[in-house]
Amino acid sequence: MKILVLNSGSSSLKFQLFDMTTMHTLATGLVEQIGESQSVTRMKFLKNNTAHTITADQPVHDHRQAITTMITLLKENRCLSGLKSLAGIGHRVVHGGERFQQPALINEHVSKIIEDLTPLAPLHNPANLMGIRVAREKAPLVPQVAVFDTAFHQTLPAHAYTYGLPYELYEKNRVRRYGFHGTSHYYVAKQAALHLGKNIDELKIISLHLGNGASCTAILNGRSIDTSMGMTPLEGLVMGTRCGDIDAGILFYLARETGRSMQELDDLLNKESGLKGICGENDMRTIIKQAGAGDGRAELALSVFCYRIKKYIGSYLAALNGADVLIFTGGIGENSPLVRARSCQDMENIGIAIDSAKNRSASAGSGSAGTLSPQIMEIQSKASSMKILVIPTNEELEIATQTLQHIQPDG
Ligand code: ADP
Repeated sequence: MKILVLNSGSSSLKFQLFDMTTMHTLATGLVEQIGESQSVTRMKFLKNNTAHTITADQPVHDHRQAITTMITLLKENRCLSGLKSLAGIGHRVVHGGERFQQPALINEHVSKIIEDLTPLAPLHNPANLMGIRVAREKAPLVPQVAVFDTAFHQTLPAHAYTYGLPYELYEKNRVRRYGFHGTSHYYVAKQAALHLGKNIDELKIISLHLGNGASCTAILNGRSIDTSMGMTPLEGLVMGTRCGDIDAGILFYLARETGRSMQELDDLLNKESGLKGICGENDMRTIIKQAGAGDGRAELALSVFCYRIKKYIGSYLAALNGADVLIFTGGIGENSPLVRARSCQDMENIGIAIDSAKNRSASAGSGSAGTLSPQIMEIQSKASSMKILVIPTNEELEIATQTLQHIQPDG
């Protein structure tokens, strides 16, 4: 039984094809720089139990062409006979507002609601919808399901999602914390429970998704009770190019003092801030190298990034009244022993201690075509009362799982 997962961004299309019967990834691919003069198309797939990769750099003009290219590649390489043979297609959708607490079977009504939520995610929801529209045209008879990044956080209590702003802004303008990365936080939390042989309902978990975007979530009995991203993905941890938490007064100050327009401030906070703003670089691998070579700004960026994580761990330990598990995931969380060590530095007195050797040897190997069991590593020392786990996330697999559950609830 095959499920295709699509993650359609403004200039990219990521896809993964799963065989949910044998629990294998059959193919995983990416079309990047859609609409630009040179696009990059890459697909990894399994043939005769061997992993293959194909790449192409012909221009891909739009999402329709990206999806056509994907279908051709899947067919030519015998991953799929055609979209008709799919049991379902799962779509990543960034913003479900308060309308979607669960995945939704896509029809015109659901597409319209996703469109109506565009003001809350002006870059993401329209891009997600482009993928949905083309996929529905190409495979009108295949059930398609929207899985929302915000849905997992719909369990937040009012005291965690309400901002200290006039209440009518919530009632009339939908201003509240929504949170993102929900699919990833939920996936790694379930994997942690499986790994520990516990029911997720009996665990208190702090989950750190550290990639280009980064967020921290407090999970109590399998439900998100607080999360660092807010109404938009700008709040919380320091990120690659996003500032995370700042004093909102800075915006007024900058508008007054520098005459920056609203769009310029938006770009400043979303695209020019975070790690990039501090040291000019947003790729953590480069920053670590530069910091190691004595670059003071890179070192500062690294310190700010890790200190913010540490503060969030502390505040969620308070929110949860202690926790059983701390999870690191995302490109940085899975691969950087240095960031993990520095984010957990000097926290023994609150039950968090990393074993240096285990931490150094823990690096993830997810994302390749093949088996779907993540390699989970425990990196806590004996002095730690909390388990500290490195878990490769797999948002696409979680979307495939939720898609299947939604179209075959008794299956
Ligand atoms: P996205 O949020 O775009 O999905 P990823 O989860 O892939 O991003 O994470 C990208 C980040 O992970 C980049 O900052 C990259 O430098 C970092 N990263 C990947 N591998 C390593 C590594 N070995 N050490 C440190 N950082 C890494």
